[in-house]
Amino acid sequence: MIRYLLITIFSLLALTFFRAIMGVVQKAVVNEVKSAMGGEDQPAPSQAGKSGPTAGPAATTLRKCVTCGTYKPEGAMIRYGSGDKAVFFCSADCEKKANA
Ligand SMILES: [Zn+2]
Repeated sequence: MIRYLLITIFSLLALTFFRAIMGVVQKAVVNEVKSAMGGEDQPAPSQAGKSGPTAGPAATTLRKCVTCGTYKPEGAMIRYGSGDKAVFFCSADCEKKANA
């Protein structure tokens, strides 16, 4: 009878331990996948709430090309105007098309 109790307790402990390990492994895997998938385009969404004329991090904000609709980091685009009136072109080609 005591042995049965011990086995029950032990299996409960083992189950708890197993779950804890699985949780850790799962977290590690999720982090691994996250860093593998979203490592490069992470700064863009975090800038959405902020507003201001800061030049540094804003250069990585995604902007839409007004001609073809392509999204690119602001730093890589041709910019016309400033503030809310600024428009962006992904390439000199699109800039020409807009002016034509
Ligand atoms: Zn374009």
